[in-house]
Amino acid sequence: MNVLVTGGAGYIGSVCVEELLNAGHEVVVFDNLSEGHRSAVDQRARFVLGDLGDRAAVGSLMSEVRPEAVIHFAASALVGESMTNPGKYFRNNVANGINLLDAAVESRVRKFVFSSTCASYGPPDRVPITEDTPQRPINPYGESKVMFEKMLGWYRQIHGLEFVVFRFFNAAGASQKLGEHHRIETHLIPNVLKVALGQASHCEIFGTDYPTPDGTCIRDYVHIADIASAHILAMEPGRQGFFNLGNGAGCSVREVIQACEKISGRSIAVIEKPRRPGDPPSLVASAERAMRELNWKPRFTKVEEIVETAWNWHTRHPKGY
Ligand code: UDP
Repeated sequence: MNVLVTGGAGYIGSVCVEELLNAGHEVVVFDNLSEGHRSAVDQRARFVLGDLGDRAAVGSLMSEVRPEAVIHFAASALVGESMTNPGKYFRNNVANGINLLDAAVESRVRKFVFSSTCASYGPPDRVPITEDTPQRPINPYGESKVMFEKMLGWYRQIHGLEFVVFRFFNAAGASQKLGEHHRIETHLIPNVLKVALGQASHCEIFGTDYPTPDGTCIRDYVHIADIASAHILAMEPGRQGFFNLGNGAGCSVREVIQACEKISGRSIAVIEKPRRPGDPPSLVASAERAMRELNWKPRFTKVEEIVETAWNWHTRHPKGY
């Protein structure tokens, strides 16, 4: 298929582009490089620098490329930042996305695949979280993703736009060539590995008084190559709906740090800090629907395996891209 990927220079998007190309698809990447890296874009893809806020640019690219599918990764994606700058989240993730939706309808795109998040659920009544769990986000990031999901529902009803929504749990790990490099790193695993690499003196634990067995937040870490393989499956005709992507295994912040110590063989100094605003205590997926309906089989099911791929990438790219 001819696929347009927004945010294809970013952490998850770049790995997905690599896998789409390996599967024989043709790929055009549209990215403003605010977070992504030009060198993270596979050379087999066509790269177009641009911003989703530029309606004319989005429209003319869409009518030139005429993609059969659009995969929409481009977004602001930090829970903490969204609690201090909500406008950035509603502008980038909701308002600018409308330009893409309208252009997709005008160009008769057959399938729209959207990256949503476990943050859209908020603290759930029950774990693991199924797709039918009510969405009650507690931060603007999660709210912005719920809003876009709702818009998709209306575009399907009114314009017949077919869509797949993936609600990613905590994306982590690296492929052989591509890994995680944010200009300001806020994510747990890369920050912990920085200590193991000798690039930071310590890492921080945000909150040790959560109602969890060791008092730290529990998340479900899922490998980016497994997220990418779900996108390949979503390209098959007839695939539609909402799917969680996670391993169904909760891992606390302290357990992640232990896994990083084990894989790197280095000890990691920790400073305990207060809670980070907007963090739900525990988010663990049930991804049974993706397994059943898409035949999705994650290859990396243990956090150590995921951390090992990240460690391999960071040791080979100590300065990132
Ligand atoms: N976290 C932490 N120290 C860090 C970064 C994150 O304790 O340096 C915690 C964070 O509060 C959350 C979990 O680790 O409970 C995962 O955070 P991350 O930012 O990696 O992903 P998120 O769940 O926010 O998407």
